[in-house]
Amino acid sequence: MAEKDKKPAKKGGNRVYQNYAASGQRLERKNKTCPKCGPSVFMAMHRDRVTCGKCRYMEMKRKE
Ligand SMILES: [Zn+2]
Repeated sequence: MAEKDKKPAKKGGNRVYQNYAASGQRLERKNKTCPKCGPSVFMAMHRDRVTCGKCRYMEMKRKE
């Protein structure tokens, strides 16, 4: 057992980070964020409304 498992994380961990960042950007575009909790809290999408799971803030989707 003389193998070196400890490799310097150069671009190995970047792969995961990149994927996460891309996914986050997409979510940020699609999903609404809670105006009360901040931009880090996404709203839950419903049929005609979006709700926040943290503060239960509700906003109607359609303007009808
Ligand atoms: Zn909220």
